[in-house]
Formats: sequence, C-alpha cells, structure tokens
Amino acid sequence: MDFALSPLALALRDRLLAFMDRYLLPYNAAWHAAVAAGDYPPPFVEDLKALAREEGLWNLFLPTLREDEPGTRLNNLDYAPLAEAMGRLPWAAEVFNCQAPDTGNIELLHRFATPAQRTRWLVPLLHGQMRSAFAMSEPDVASSDPTNLQTTVRREGDDLVLSGRKWFITGAAHPHCQLLIVLCRNADADSEDGHHRHSMVLVPVNTPGVQIVRNIPVLHHHAPEGHCEILLRSVRVPADHLLGDWGAGFAMAQARLGPGRVHHCMRSIGQCELALRLATERALERTAFGKPLAEQANVQEWLAESRIEIDQARLLVLHAAWLLDQGDAVDARSVRAQVAAIKLVAARLQQRVVDRAMQVFGAMGMSPDTPLAAFWTWGRALRLMDGPDEVHLRTVARHELAQARAGLGASAAYFTTPEQLRAPPHLSA
Ligand SMILES: Cc1cc2nc3c(=O)[nH]c(=O)nc-3n(C[C@H](O)[C@H](O)[C@H](O)COP(=O)(O)OP(=O)(O)OC[C@H]3O[C@@H](n4cnc5c(N)ncnc54)[C@H](O)[C@@H]3O)c2cc1C
Repeated sequence: MDFALSPLALALRDRLLAFMDRYLLPYNAAWHAAVAAGDYPPPFVEDLKALAREEGLWNLFLPTLREDEPGTRLNNLDYAPLAEAMGRLPWAAEVFNCQAPDTGNIELLHRFATPAQRTRWLVPLLHGQMRSAFAMSEPDVASSDPTNLQTTVRREGDDLVLSGRKWFITGAAHPHCQLLIVLCRNADADSEDGHHRHSMVLVPVNTPGVQIVRNIPVLHHHAPEGHCEILLRSVRVPADHLLGDWGAGFAMAQARLGPGRVHHCMRSIGQCELALRLATERALERTAFGKPLAEQANVQEWLAESRIEIDQARLLVLHAAWLLDQGDAVDARSVRAQVAAIKLVAARLQQRVVDRAMQVFGAMGMSPDTPLAAFWTWGRALRLMDGPDEVHLRTVARHELAQARAGLGASAAYFTTPEQLRAPPHLSA
C-alpha cells in the first residue's frame, strides 16, 4: 500500500489548483450573484468548461474510460486528491465534468448501457452537454432500505410504464438535466426476495407524466441544481429504456455507490481543510481580552483536533480508494464495509470541523459571507444522503460480526481464566 501520489496525479493536482486560482476563484462572487438573480447556471460556466477541457482537466474520475472517450483514466487513488481540491469550491466540479450525481450515473451507463443508450445518454454526459439525476428515494417509504421502494414499472407491449413519487432528487432542477435514472419496483414481481424485484429505467425528463413538483430546500438552503420532488404519473417510455436486466436494479444501485462515495468524502475533506485554514487565520488575526484567539487554549485544542481528525479521515478514505483500485484481488465485503465507514466518518468530520470553525468566527460564521454555513449544511445533509449514518454503521458491524463468526473461539487463547491459571501448559523442549 503506497499512498504517494503518482507523478501524473501530482501534475494534474497542481494544474487543477492553478486553474481554480486563476479562473474559478475570480468568478466565485459572480457565480453567487448570478445564482441569486436566478441566472443558473451562469453563462460563463460553459466557457470555463471549454477551457478546462482544453487544459486536459476533464472527466478526471473514471478509470475505465475507453480510448475514444474524453478523460484522464486516473484510478480512484489518484483521483482522490483532485476531488479534495475541487471540494473547496462547491460549484467547481461541474467545470471539470466531475459533478455528482452525473459521475455515478456515468459509471452506471458505462457498465450497463446498450450501444444505443450509450450514444443517446452516455456520450452527451461525457462531453458535458447535459446533466442527469438518480431517482431512488420516496416520501412514502423508508428509503434507507431500498427494498421498500414502491414506484412501479410495468411492461405494456413495447413500452414500460412508471408510476410513483420520488423526492430529494439531486440535480433534477438543473436546466440541462435531461435524464432521470429511476429505480422502480417491478409490477410483475412475484418474488419475496427484495433484492431482485427492482429495475432501473432511463426516463427523459420531458416525457409526458414527469412532473417536477418542487425543489426542496435543505435546512433553508435552496440549491439551484435542486433536490426535487418528482411525480411520475403513468410515464411511458420504450422498453429499450430499461438499463441492465429486469430485476437487477438493486445490485446495480449498490455497484454505483463505491467510487462515488470516495469522491463525496474527498470533497468533504477539501471543505474541512478550507474550514480549518479559515479558522486558523481568523484565530491569528482576531483579538479578544487582550490576546489573539489563537492563544486561547480551547481554540488551540479545536484547531489541533480538527487537524488530527482530517488527517485520520483522509488516510481512511485513501485506503478505501486503494481497495477499490484492487478490483477482484480483495474481498468485496471488506471493501463494502470500508466504503460504508468512510461515508460515515467524512460526514461526521465535516460537521465537527466546520462547527468549530464557525465558533471561532463568531457571528460571521453564521452569515453567508464565509463558505462555512453552506459547508455545515452540506455536512449535515451528508449524514442522510447516500444512506444515513446508522445504515453504514450496520454494514460495518455486520462485516465485523461475520468475520468473528467465521473464526469463532479463535481469540479464546488470550483469556486467563482461573482454570488456565491453575494448570498452565508447560513449554515442551
Ligand atoms: C441533500 C439530500 C440529497 C439527496 N439526494 C438524493 C438523490 O439524488 N437521489 C435519491 O434517490 N435520494 C436522495 N436523497 C435521499 C437520501 O438518500 C435518503 O434521505 C436516505 O437514503 C434516507 O432515507 P429516508 O430519508 O427515507 O430515511 P428513512 O429510511 O425513513 O430513515 C430515517 C431514519 O431511520 C434510521 N434508520 C434507518 N435505517 C436504520 C437502521 N438499519 N438502523 C438504525 N437506524 C436506522 C436513521 O436514523 C434514519 O435517518 C437525498 C437526501 C438529501 C438530504
């Protein structure tokens, strides 16, 4: 296991950071002003995308890209520091065509799309010409357990017909969003096996019967790309819009999540690094009761704890990225548990580190003048999106229990019971 960045990743990270300093940060205020004025995405984003692509900073996330597909083919470990850099500016990822949820959707299409589906959906996504959303969660069932999902899909002649209601669907309000990947329950499912009765269907957003009901604010934050409630009222698409096999939706949804979680976690770590740096500089500059805040023991403790926790989390995430890069050479169940662990650790980290930074900033930390309030909100949401903390804890615990069950009794050699003390074994010559 070697976590040193490869020369290619190092070079790309330096170029990415230089690009962000030179082209994105000067536009940050303009981006917020445009969005506040309802001009989303701001027109200059397309120019920045073209520039990023010219510079080779495009589709940095997908190791399995084909020769004829645009991008860098970095593995997960090499991409991780780039995601961290992008995380510092929440709108940056789109400029490099590395934004969620399109990255996960691109991975899905890359693995499962037919040639016709590739041409219609994957190619425009890889070229940044459209956006997409992944529609799984529903208001009427506990969606942390996807076997509950109730939106139905039924086969009718050459068509598939979908009915149901989804919510918190990220990206669906983006004006360029043309595709919903909808996870549905098969109307003909006779199996009680919840893991084989769902399918994924590709639904063009403009299909009759698709209604974006509202863009739901998250803790008062109104995301321009949206976390939308969507009504599907007898939505009819051709049967060739099925993605993958009938009944394979659950397994495909699981497959979608690994690399995407590494990306989310590294972006979180980027936001935590920035929050810590902002807090540290503020503590050096701000004086109360005759000395800089940086000289207060509690402030020093917050800064130190944040530094240690960020570094711990980064190592854990890089380890997960490395495991994902090993493919079949490592036990898939261990990787799953590790990916669940990083999702939990990064979301909690973001809340703690950003909360401390807000406290150092005093009232200003509550305002929109720093990125901290938005980072905290996002950290809180991360504890639910892509599965709540408790589900990830369950995954880690079940893996731990399975391992112990497989070797039950092996640790008894470490006991020192009264019986063993009375009759210790003698070393044989
Ligand atoms: C900002 C944001 C963006 C999102 N984007 C998307 C998106 O793009 N697409 C999409 O499909 N969904 C999206 N979601 C929805 C998200 O995936 C769900 O909210 C999440 O899976 C939890 O489902 P639920 O809200 O139905 O909670 P429920 O399933 O009702 O769970 C409620 C609570 O029950 C507890 N719980 C659940 N299971 C267990 C367990 N096994 N053990 C112990 N406690 C448990 C947890 O505390 C959990 O928080 C998004 C959510 C947010 C907040």
